[in-house]
Amino acid sequence: MKPVLVFISVCLLAIAAAGAFTLGQQKWTPVPPGGPDSSPDYSWEKSDSGCLRPTDQTYRARLDALGALLFGAAPSEITGCVTTVYLENKYSNNSPYNIQNHAGLDLRAKIGTPVYSPVSGTVIWQELNPSKETSTLTIETSDRAYNVVFIHCSVHTKAIRDPVRKGELICRTGDVGAAAAHLHIEVKPVGKDAPNLKGMSGGRGVCLKSSFTNGWDETTQAYTRLTKPGCSLADVMANTVDPTILTSGASTPSSTDRPQGPASASGTRARQEALVAPLKNQEANLGCGWIVSAPTIGEGNVFSSDLEDSLILMNIEGKDIRLTLKSSTGTPAKVGDTLRRTFAAPGIVVTAIFKVSEVCLPDNEECEVTRFKVVFDVYKGGAHQRFTGTAMTGC
Ligand SMILES: [Zn+2]
Repeated sequence: MKPVLVFISVCLLAIAAAGAFTLGQQKWTPVPPGGPDSSPDYSWEKSDSGCLRPTDQTYRARLDALGALLFGAAPSEITGCVTTVYLENKYSNNSPYNIQNHAGLDLRAKIGTPVYSPVSGTVIWQELNPSKETSTLTIETSDRAYNVVFIHCSVHTKAIRDPVRKGELICRTGDVGAAAAHLHIEVKPVGKDAPNLKGMSGGRGVCLKSSFTNGWDETTQAYTRLTKPGCSLADVMANTVDPTILTSGASTPSSTDRPQGPASASGTRARQEALVAPLKNQEANLGCGWIVSAPTIGEGNVFSSDLEDSLILMNIEGKDIRLTLKSSTGTPAKVGDTLRRTFAAPGIVVTAIFKVSEVCLPDNEECEVTRFKVVFDVYKGGAHQRFTGTAMTGC
């Protein structure tokens, strides 16, 4: 090879290497919704090297700000980029635990990368035992609003009861309890779950859709492997909030943002807030479709949708929000049948369980509607509202 060619090759290598250090120069491919690397509330893109970024620019800025707080520099393909998103459905039939719905954010980082606290507060839990695959450090924010949990670190630099200032070194990343080195950060409103992550996330930082136990199966009259139901998307959303809440301008939450303290120490009761109001536009879906009324919310419909699920509306925090249908399970045909649906908009997840209360009898030609009792759970930021209503679908 002539010297000039060698020089050009070296230059190309240098350019390729430089490209790998910034998020902007990668090729980004849209992530199909509903599958791996997706979440119900945002749409995502994936880079060649496996980094994820949301298409929503506001949310992307919040993620970048969080990465910068944690690692002291803007996220790159090497350090700080997102590798597993909040609420990602990690369900797999092949997994022994059918892991479902990631309760935090995974950020890429080589073993030993310094992690700086994104909040001021106090260390209320830390445990580091690589032989047991255990590494958890939990900081309660100084306003006592949130427990911020850091998992997989190889070194902890703080002990239980140590005060922590925002920007202080708290740990160095590792792969304790993980297949590849990364930082898992999870944010729980105080009182939602034990600080050591026992309970909902079982110390894994994820929600188990189901687990297995050996027991007697009445149907087959044999000892067999039985499935124990685990937690759901709603459970994850009731016990955690999107970690970017720490950089959304709400790092010092207002009193209305704050959870109601130790009264909910059972860890199962979600913080109730008035998020939903009757629709401003009561006439959006006047043709065939769905309408829901809920007397505890107010007069008029609180939800409406056309039959094609292309215009789904709910008034959340004073605005009619257009929701997207993310999942639908069940084929309600007779009284008592249920239909479970998940809807979302950026930063918002709504789950609904419709239970059939009235169907048309086969010989009643005037009847065109099916009626349901419905339970809605609406999540936005750290807030959650549950309410019941009556739903009607038809023409
Ligand atoms: Zn994780």
